[in-house]
Amino acid sequence: MNSVRVEDVSMIYPFLKVSGLFDRKKQKEFLAKQQAMPYTSNEGVIALQHFTATFKKGEFVSILGPSGSGKSTLLRIIAGLEDPPLGKVFYDDVELRDIPIDERNVSIVFQNYALYPNQRVYKNIAFPLEVRHIPRDEISEKVNRIATIMGMEDKLEKFPDELSGGEKQRVAICRAMVKEPDLLLLDEPLSNLDPLIRKKIRNQLRKIHEQYDTTIIYVTHEQYDALSLSDRIIILKDGITQMDGSVSEVYNYPVNRFCGEFVGFPTMNFFEDIEVDKDGSYSLFGTKYRLSSAQVKKLKEDRKIAVGIRGVDIQISNKGTDAAVEYVELIEADLIIHAMLQDYKITIVEKMNDNQDLRYFKGQEIKLSFDEKRFHFFDSEGNRL
Ligand code: ADP
Ligand code: MG
Repeated sequence: MNSVRVEDVSMIYPFLKVSGLFDRKKQKEFLAKQQAMPYTSNEGVIALQHFTATFKKGEFVSILGPSGSGKSTLLRIIAGLEDPPLGKVFYDDVELRDIPIDERNVSIVFQNYALYPNQRVYKNIAFPLEVRHIPRDEISEKVNRIATIMGMEDKLEKFPDELSGGEKQRVAICRAMVKEPDLLLLDEPLSNLDPLIRKKIRNQLRKIHEQYDTTIIYVTHEQYDALSLSDRIIILKDGITQMDGSVSEVYNYPVNRFCGEFVGFPTMNFFEDIEVDKDGSYSLFGTKYRLSSAQVKKLKEDRKIAVGIRGVDIQISNKGTDAAVEYVELIEADLIIHAMLQDYKITIVEKMNDNQDLRYFKGQEIKLSFDEKRFHFFDSEGNRL
């Protein structure tokens, strides 16, 4: 299979009805809560709106968005587990609806691994091949190949009960990959695991991506997974695509404030309600800057902007804007300095050097300079200028 195409797909779930347990007031409240969701129609909650994307063979694409943004819905639709009322899904040029289930070479892994408890790991992994009556040698070769990539080659004789959560999830991934699917769909597979195990499995997923030509679609609400694993990221919010781009596009050119805030750690700093003059100039903490004429053209009538800048693009130096240190965190090799800049709580990121942690302390007066080229401008509706 060379491509998966999702064409203008929308999905509506009927409002859930509650009865019995709740009195009428509670029922009304429950319905009102559902109707207050960002996108609803008379029929129900709109989980996905006009979603269109093409996934090419061998691509690793992350679907990134907060809880409730429609990620799992999209994945189920791509897997063919759910048939959308509007729009179409194609595997190559054939509509998914017209492809018999046993001809769809797709695997899906969920957050909660479902293994056969009374079968050994080997059998659990081999199952999708055994039902296809593949010769035993070939099965063994394929099981060993994927088990080695996932670091499970020594655990093949164990039962699921004897494994840790991370190991069980690795078995689930092995079972999904053993039939060498055209498409591997992962729905928050690492969410239940601790950071060290996540890191390890991320590396193993990278190896899978290198060694198989499977297309991988990875659903997550964790930006770090998306940024570190994928070729491309699609950001969803309230069932609507916000952005579809490479990792560097998403990080460097967020199309709106939501994307700017959602991607990157620590969260981008924003300076609000800055007025732009007729000639495009604006001032920030006493310094004058100027928007390009293309940016000025995009301004809304109120001529107000928010200026965003990431902590890594702010320098602490001996001249510049005054700020005061609130507290300092060390995260991996990054020093995150939390400071007050007038009324703004901001974060600045520096690389950790020897003894550098001693350089900053609560209440310390510092001076900041900004890398103007790294400013992100958003109009009053949150769209990028
Ligand atoms: P995500 O995976 O991003 O958290 P989902 O795709 O699970 O989001 O859900 C998207 C929206 O659709 C949410 O508002 C959710 O409450 C609603 N939803 C999901 N599944 C159902 C369902 N089976 N019935 C009713 N509403 C649903
Ligand atoms: Mg989900």
